[in-house]
Amino acid sequence: MGWIFALCLAVLFLFAEVMGATVSLPEILLSSPYACQGDIVLLKVRVEKGEIPKLTWLEKDVPMVALEEGNWCGFLGTDLKFAPGTYPLKISTTPSGREKSVEIKIESKDYGERRLTLPREMVELDAVTLRRVRKEAAAINSVLERTSAEPSWKGPFLKPVEGELSGIFGRRNIINGLARSPHSGVDLKAGRGVPVKAMNHGKVVFTSDQFFSGLSVVVDHGGGIHSMYFHLEKILVQEGQQVTKGEIIGQVGSTGRSTGPHLHLGVRVNGARVDPLRLIDLSKELE
Ligand SMILES: [Zn+2]
Repeated sequence: MGWIFALCLAVLFLFAEVMGATVSLPEILLSSPYACQGDIVLLKVRVEKGEIPKLTWLEKDVPMVALEEGNWCGFLGTDLKFAPGTYPLKISTTPSGREKSVEIKIESKDYGERRLTLPREMVELDAVTLRRVRKEAAAINSVLERTSAEPSWKGPFLKPVEGELSGIFGRRNIINGLARSPHSGVDLKAGRGVPVKAMNHGKVVFTSDQFFSGLSVVVDHGGGIHSMYFHLEKILVQEGQQVTKGEIIGQVGSTGRSTGPHLHLGVRVNGARVDPLRLIDLSKELE
């Protein structure tokens, strides 16, 4: 008889949960319970007054921003190449020590491919150029690994130029017939010299002239979010400078390996390469 009683009790609890009679805090609200590779999930958390939430996803802390009393928000990023599967998002609160966990499903996504023909010297690199490229990649990666935990971004993220999309995120690049790294940002078409705005408040953590990305700027928005602006004609900020949302950081150009003036915009969320347009879209909700 014991198990029948247990079953009845379980059904009763389930019913109460469905009816919303026992929404216990902390409460986690997701913009979606699943994400595809390269996607972002907007996360809202409600905790008891005076409590501080700590969230962990894929063994990393998820930086959260305090909104009004008891409400917090943050973003989860799933890398372009992250293995599909179901991964728990864990929350605990301080000081009460309450814990909860929800499952987030990551699905694979085929973003298609782009075939490009480029001059041989831009693709087949000599030893000196190869050394330069490797050094540059290491420099930008070390910048992207560090982030100020304290979020300086606030509200929606802006589109840095009003250009139409000329290169989608995630496509496999087939250059002169050979597979290269996938497109880890979006290309926005804009004329040479068009002002490029910072997507949100932050600190300029990298300015450089790179072989592939040309004149490049990286802004650290804190809370694990970086934005990257490549192929600029001119850089108008300096490393270490604080910028505000919408502040002009450079001009559109075609420097580095580029086939014409455009802005390559990249975004990292907790190190994951994600679609910048998803960040712009999802963050509109935070207006
Ligand atoms: Zn691009």
